[in-house]
Amino acid sequence: MYTITVIPGDGIGPEVMEATLDILKASDLEFDFHEARAGYACYQETGNTLPHETLEIARNADATLFGAITSVPEQKTPSSILTLRKELGLYANLRPIKSYPGVKSLYGDVDILIIRENSEGLYSGIEEVTSEGATALRVITRKASQRISRVAFEEAKNRGKTRVTAVHKANVLRKSDGVFRNSFWKVAEEYKEKDGYRDIATDELYVDAAAMFLVTDPHRFQVMVTTNLFGDILSDEGAGLVGGLGMAPSANIGDDNGLFEPVHGSAPDIASKGVANPAAMILSACLMLQFLGEHQEAFKLEQALIKVLEEGIVLTPDLGGTSTTMEMAQAVKKYFKKS
Ligand code: ATP
Ligand code: MG
Repeated sequence: MYTITVIPGDGIGPEVMEATLDILKASDLEFDFHEARAGYACYQETGNTLPHETLEIARNADATLFGAITSVPEQKTPSSILTLRKELGLYANLRPIKSYPGVKSLYGDVDILIIRENSEGLYSGIEEVTSEGATALRVITRKASQRISRVAFEEAKNRGKTRVTAVHKANVLRKSDGVFRNSFWKVAEEYKEKDGYRDIATDELYVDAAAMFLVTDPHRFQVMVTTNLFGDILSDEGAGLVGGLGMAPSANIGDDNGLFEPVHGSAPDIASKGVANPAAMILSACLMLQFLGEHQEAFKLEQALIKVLEEGIVLTPDLGGTSTTMEMAQAVKKYFKKS
């Protein structure tokens, strides 16, 4: 029995969440879902984007499923997802970039895992107004750089990948990315000694070159590991490469907790129409199942989605179909139950 926190959020968040939970309930596994609130609607009603209670529920769960939230316009209000990542110690952001059948994509057979450091870098939130303008501090520590590099090797092994590429800009950011680069190679050396890792090749690329190769030669990549800002940009580029936001899942992982969310936001333009593509949320649930060690169930769920995509009949409008979110989810559920 797994205890799962469910944070539907705003906009299309609750729609794709309902669709995904309905499929998960057809699983052989037992889940105890605890719904909790966060986001803009929550703020309007309670004056708080992330009630203390939500944080406590998430802290005590095995994992959290997160829909999407609309940012609160007032600048001073902290973003609930950023606070959740920080409070739960979710230092690794995993973004699979994978092409699926029937989904318009620049290339077929793309299957990359981008691993983004999620706790420091240029997103440390240390900014200062100066007489000339402003400065932002880019914090790179050995501890966080080694920790994220280890995640890269662990994920590579668990997913049967044979290459890990570190992405940085150590030719310009000599000190900060010097630390990142050296930390990566130190961890790479450690792993070369370990059973099961000797066949994993390692290399490094400057971020500008990596951005280009992602478009011109994506098959050269398997696992990419990088700092916060570079990872943010490269993973959106990657999502664009394989069919856009409706298909892109993500995992936020720490030592003993994980939060799983689609890459897309609350999409106010299509909210409450029932037409949001549930695939990104369903694939985020797959990542959650993997995190829980339920690899067989994760595989079954992804295969069920693939069948629906291959058939190309019950699809939401962004995929060229005319079906609703729930209709597409029901089609996935049907195959999931059969498997
Ligand atoms: P937010 O501020 O919450 O991020 P946004 O306006 O930036 O909202 P996104 O959710 O980031 O919206 O989406 C960007 C575009 O992609 C929108 O036009 C949206 O309709 C589309 N989109 C995003 N997610 C989906 C989805 N699951 N299915 C279909 N279209 C989507
Ligand atoms: Mg957005």
